[in-house]
Amino acid sequence: MRPFNFSAGPAALPVEVLQQAASEMLDWHGSGMSVMEMSHRGHEFTSIIETAQADLRELLGVPSNYKILFVQGGGIGENAIVPMNLFGRCRKADFVVTGSWSDKSHKEAKRYGEGHLAASTKGSFTRIPAFGEWQVSSDSAYLHLCSNETIDGVEFNDFPDLGDLPIVADASSHILSRPLDVSRFGVVYGGAQKNIGMAGVTIVIVRDDLLDQAMSICPSAFEWKTIAANDSMFNTPPTYAIYIAGLVFKWLKAQGGLAAIERRNIEKATLLYETIDNSSFYLNKVERSARSRMNVPFFLADETLNDAFLAGAKARQLLQLKGHKSVGGMRASLYNAVQIDAVHALVDYMKEFERTRA
Ligand SMILES: *Cc1c(COP(=O)(O)O)cnc(C)c1O
Repeated sequence: MRPFNFSAGPAALPVEVLQQAASEMLDWHGSGMSVMEMSHRGHEFTSIIETAQADLRELLGVPSNYKILFVQGGGIGENAIVPMNLFGRCRKADFVVTGSWSDKSHKEAKRYGEGHLAASTKGSFTRIPAFGEWQVSSDSAYLHLCSNETIDGVEFNDFPDLGDLPIVADASSHILSRPLDVSRFGVVYGGAQKNIGMAGVTIVIVRDDLLDQAMSICPSAFEWKTIAANDSMFNTPPTYAIYIAGLVFKWLKAQGGLAAIERRNIEKATLLYETIDNSSFYLNKVERSARSRMNVPFFLADETLNDAFLAGAKARQLLQLKGHKSVGGMRASLYNAVQIDAVHALVDYMKEFERTRA
């Protein structure tokens, strides 16, 4: 059996996907080539990217007036690529800062224009500010938020209706963990290495009317209109990462799609949060209504036991539980590929550690 991997990203992949990639490594579907070795313009890779795109559109129910782009640059790259694509007419955007990632997005966008803070919980990233408290500008190009804060463990369960103001969501760490109504957003983006596949490809889902608002300084290779017009082939796309994402999409469909995976994700998160809440030995500080199902940061009441906790976890094949350096403590990421038995193994260990050390 493989160890249980709770990495925040790059993160665990479904074992079936890894096995299939291994079996196809030297010869993809009788082509005599690895996916890494084939032309991105040949019919083999064209079928891989087209199928991946169609499967993603079906899984998320992406409306026909949105383009799905496969690009490079990661979530952090998008922090610059988004403003460069949307500041062409109006160089101002609103930001809701609910954690480290949205804070980074806000800072980076300010290099290209004005970044107005509509709402922020900076100082204590433990909640989502009530929509009624948001000070939204009337003259912004878009409002940016991070729908799941990977480091702080804060997740949006709902989104406000801002009328004509498009919402741009960094959904890197919970995309495909639950159904998402794409029509409520102007742009949804995410790096693949959390819930979609491997590092190297970033998914951008963008509404058609937002494709012609780029700044003239935007590099052609990052201009959504150019990428869309070339079916994500303006330059060589990250072919192998797109192939792996495609295998994950097929795996998700076989699991029953996003409603089925959401039920499992709720079950996993509930098990871990209940274990934390039922003990005074472990602590999660996020308000219940804003707790992330994907990333569960938690602390030991006695932080001098952190190293012992991690060493014991590792000995039980529970890997990558150390919290982000900016937050400390522990973090268990429960992405789609993490099965319920991994969470059972984790909570069994947590209870045992508490019994022997409390
Ligand atoms: C991981 C992550 C990023 C950063 O992605 P990179 O691929 O390292 O650029 C950005 N936003 C969120 C929400 C993330 O989880």
